[in-house]
Amino acid sequence: MSTPIKILLVGAAGRMGQSITRLLAAGTVPGLELVAAVDRADSPLAGQDAGTAAGTRALGVKITSDLAAALAAKPAVAIDFSAHTLTAAAAPLLAAAGVAWVNGTTGLEAADNAAVAQAAQRIPVVRSANMSLGVNLLYALVEQAARALRGKDYDCEIIERHHRRKKDAPSGTALYLGEAAAQGYDWPLRDVAVDGRSGLTGARPAKQIGFHAVRGGDIVGDHTVLFAADGECVELAHRATSRDTFALGALRAASWLAGRAPGLYSMRDVLGLNPGSS
Ligand code: NAD
Repeated sequence: MSTPIKILLVGAAGRMGQSITRLLAAGTVPGLELVAAVDRADSPLAGQDAGTAAGTRALGVKITSDLAAALAAKPAVAIDFSAHTLTAAAAPLLAAAGVAWVNGTTGLEAADNAAVAQAAQRIPVVRSANMSLGVNLLYALVEQAARALRGKDYDCEIIERHHRRKKDAPSGTALYLGEAAAQGYDWPLRDVAVDGRSGLTGARPAKQIGFHAVRGGDIVGDHTVLFAADGECVELAHRATSRDTFALGALRAASWLAGRAPGLYSMRDVLGLNPGSS
């Protein structure tokens, strides 16, 4: 039997962290072993066994707040679903320790993305705002639709719905799908993205992609990309019903990433949805 890939989980006490812990405990993706778990010192679950905290069996790994100390467990891959405020600090630590990084955190700012890109010169990194197979398939479909409809007066709008505790808007996934549409239309997303609308907005310019964020209850994550023209509307949609779909993607990414060359990879590389991906 081959040696298991040692996993460090960052954000272990969070919703995604707990979902990932349960799948690790169940051996859903074989060959992965949790060796360290990190969360904030003020988390109510700090100091607890990560497995027990996630409602599964004890795994003998306590949730610590010290990322540098957690690296002493010699993880091969860090899976990070914490907060963008940790990204720039985590990047040099992981790069110096040679730990591959699966980063699913959303809300990254320019400086955070720069820190990730710098780390990716030394370690392999998978960064994706959405790790589910379905959303990454949707990315390809949206890009294809936008390319086919380019120059034909189809307005693209993206509507996302999430639970009331979500901290960022629009969602990282909505922006990711916006990139797909912008790619298909051949527009730079930053020049055409509009967040919601209110007041006397005037007529909608053709060269625009609108984002609309709905927040409420326990919605795991719904995304609809619509292409509206005079006389018809095409809608491409994805609905997540369980966080396990993202957690499973993160574990697949960790398994795929271990031992890769340094670089910045996407979930489409992991899932073989990119031309030329292996
Ligand atoms: P959450 O708030 O339930 O969990 C985040 C955890 O990270 C918390 O336990 C928090 O204490 C911890 N944390 C925050 N700052 C930290 C720090 N500096 N050091 C250590 N731990 C820290 O949120 P969640 O729903 O689990 O989502 C986490 C992140 O993952 C969000 O950015 C969310 O948007 C993103 N997300 C990504 C995907 C994907 O597929 N890529 C899917 C779902 C959620």
